[in-house]
Amino acid sequence: MKKRLVILGAGESGVGAALLAKQKGYDVFVSDGGPIKEKYRTELQENEIDFEENQHSAERILNAGEIMKSPGIPEKNELVKKIRAKGINVISEIEFAYRYKGNSKIIAITGSNGKTTTTALTYHICKTGGADCAMVGNVGFSFAKQVAMHPKELYVAEISSFQLDDIKTFRPDVAVLTNITEDHLDRYEYKFENYINSKFRVTMNQQPEDIFIYNLDDDVTVKTISNYPIKSTLAPITMSKELPQGAYLLNAKMHLKWKTEEMQMSIEDFAVKGKHNQYNSMAAGLAASAVDIRKEKIREALQTFESLEHRMEPVATIKNVEFINDSKATNINSTWFALESMEKPVILILGGVDKGNDYDLLKDLVKEKVKAIVCMGTENRKIHEAFGDIVSLMVNTDNTKDAVQSAFHFANSGDVVLLSPACASFDLFKNYEDRGNQFKQAVKEL
Ligand code: ADP
Repeated sequence: MKKRLVILGAGESGVGAALLAKQKGYDVFVSDGGPIKEKYRTELQENEIDFEENQHSAERILNAGEIMKSPGIPEKNELVKKIRAKGINVISEIEFAYRYKGNSKIIAITGSNGKTTTTALTYHICKTGGADCAMVGNVGFSFAKQVAMHPKELYVAEISSFQLDDIKTFRPDVAVLTNITEDHLDRYEYKFENYINSKFRVTMNQQPEDIFIYNLDDDVTVKTISNYPIKSTLAPITMSKELPQGAYLLNAKMHLKWKTEEMQMSIEDFAVKGKHNQYNSMAAGLAASAVDIRKEKIREALQTFESLEHRMEPVATIKNVEFINDSKATNINSTWFALESMEKPVILILGGVDKGNDYDLLKDLVKEKVKAIVCMGTENRKIHEAFGDIVSLMVNTDNTKDAVQSAFHFANSGDVVLLSPACASFDLFKNYEDRGNQFKQAVKEL
């Protein structure tokens, strides 16, 4: 008899897993508690995959041999509780895809901030270096869909902590942990420790021949790493000292040392700017060295990488005022790095849905660099409380048009207007992309 795989959630990862499961001969059933996007419904229908939407029929789910849960579905969901109580094996999409990847290699990139950028950078380097590779996870196909439709020799995968929660055997050849700051705590019983555990699971099945790249300058990583029995070869990155193996930055030069390979590169030559991107470039360069990409190619790729939309994206310069879209900055840490990289006086557009922000962490940089704050959210009280004493120009807005106009009004020639909200966008926008696009539109209309 065919093994029954039930897939909860019909988004990119759920549908990807369904395609792969069908191909591998499973009896597949996909169940989504909400409406399924047109594109995914068509894909399921065309592939004759059984599915339901706007409901979960318990009797068709609890008879599963195994369940793949999409990362968006939380543990506190009633159905998930029933599944757990029944003891059915629950896996994530990356675990399922991993079973069928064959001899291909995986670079798995996780962390609180910088995942997408580091993944895109690593992919760009590997591609430039001639590897047969694909970028999977958040940008492009899900890992499972890529394995089903276009298998490659190397997968560069962006992995969230939710994906890591339900792995069993997933073992990346190279794991990258960019950093750890408080995020998504609502999904981890408000225990930071649970979230940290989840991130370190990326190393859980690694062996000595595998490599773990991590940031020696990240406090949380360094304080907690010894709690985990990591077997893989450690490859740190840092800006604070020389290393015998790994990547470090000294006197504006990146040094990459891996096995017998060694290279140096001036940070002036990096295509993406800012301290956070120097960390991302070091991690990506090291990950690429670990899969044997040649140093000339690493250098070339770090020079030619094109920055991603909504992440410190230059929009326009009007009357010598520069506009930057960093809408993806949805927590304090991201905004900290955005401000840190600013070299001109800043008009900062800040606010939205705050996931428990401690604005004190931004105070020093705000004092040093920010001349005006434009709040953009339905609730701005905390921002006023935090910065009212140190920034004299502050105004409330509740749409991008007003925010951009106010910011432009405060700006003088040589200033920069930075949208880096430190908050989620759901009060006024569909998502961070919508916020970024509306910002860009409003700048164009000035
Ligand atoms: P993620 O995929 O983890 O959300 P992104 O690469 O999309 O990360 O970047 C999200 C935000 O975080 C951007 O606003 C960016 O400026 C900032 N950021 C990028 N890399 C880092 C880093 N290494 N440390 C801190 N912040 C970062």
